[in-house]
Amino acid sequence: MARERVFSGFRVTGEQHIGNYFGAIKNYVALQADYDCLYCAVDVHSLTTLEDARLVGPNSLESATVMLAAGVDPERSIIFVQSHVPEVMELAEYFAMLTPLSVLTRVPTFKEKVRQQPENVNAGLLGYPVLMAADILLYKAAVVPIGIDQEPHLELTREVARKFNNRFGDTFPEPASKHTETPLIRGLDGQSKMSKSMGNAIPLTATSEETTALVRAAVTDPQRARRTDPGRPEICNVYALHQVFAPERAPQIYEQCSTAGIGCVDCKLLLAGSVNDYFAEFRAKHAELRAKPDYVRSVLREGAERAGAIARETMVEVRERIGLMAT
Ligand code: SF4
Repeated sequence: MARERVFSGFRVTGEQHIGNYFGAIKNYVALQADYDCLYCAVDVHSLTTLEDARLVGPNSLESATVMLAAGVDPERSIIFVQSHVPEVMELAEYFAMLTPLSVLTRVPTFKEKVRQQPENVNAGLLGYPVLMAADILLYKAAVVPIGIDQEPHLELTREVARKFNNRFGDTFPEPASKHTETPLIRGLDGQSKMSKSMGNAIPLTATSEETTALVRAAVTDPQRARRTDPGRPEICNVYALHQVFAPERAPQIYEQCSTAGIGCVDCKLLLAGSVNDYFAEFRAKHAELRAKPDYVRSVLREGAERAGAIARETMVEVRERIGLMAT
């Protein structure tokens, strides 16, 4: 039986952190068992916010390196860079003609970006969901793994598919979202989601020493002023991270923290050890692949060829449906 096709794209904004790993990359590896997957480094989308465009190339290569190191298998999945299949820009242009401006200005992430970067509200930000729709529909993906916050974008993709199908004939499937269980990884400040821009992240490729130093600086229970004070693990982010990285040890940490049986420094050192153990294999593989950029480039080239073949087929159909004159 033919397997359903999954598409997922991720922005190439630079160094990945452990929150990205649990939010997306780990899931990419798991999805390969049940779906035909296309994983795309969305370099063009990244230009909407990236200040230095010269970083977009190296960042794309690094994103692919991270995926391969994590276990995405290029024999089973298609790994490619968005701009290497330029048909997506053409499709986005046709979709832009079907999308009212008023719909795009209401997209929550657009409004958020307007607040975050008022000095750079570029048209690319407004067209972001249209290009995302083109990314997904170009490959006729049936399933898109997304976080809840991405749901409005995917709904817009479905609307675009419906509009195109109604106007030009049945062409695109309406993709379903796949929400996966992912632990919320808060940053080392314990306040917000882990994020590179917030400066509260543990980079995936940090060394063991760097990881330990970062974890040692993590915010804990603010009411635990002295070693002899009992702590409140239920409000401590270090405890939450123990639950992710060493769940078998978490009950013991809970008990020791609540009875002042362990100090925060020792507790953090245990956590740092667990994080380092968890990512040891990934980091070794990543270092190995980083030393072989030509291999990673060859994977992306092959990915672009495979994705391009699907894209070209779709575009022949799209142009015919629209009624454009053939050459
Ligand atoms: S002992 Fe651990 S869980 Fe308890 S407050 Fe300190 S760091 Fe947090």
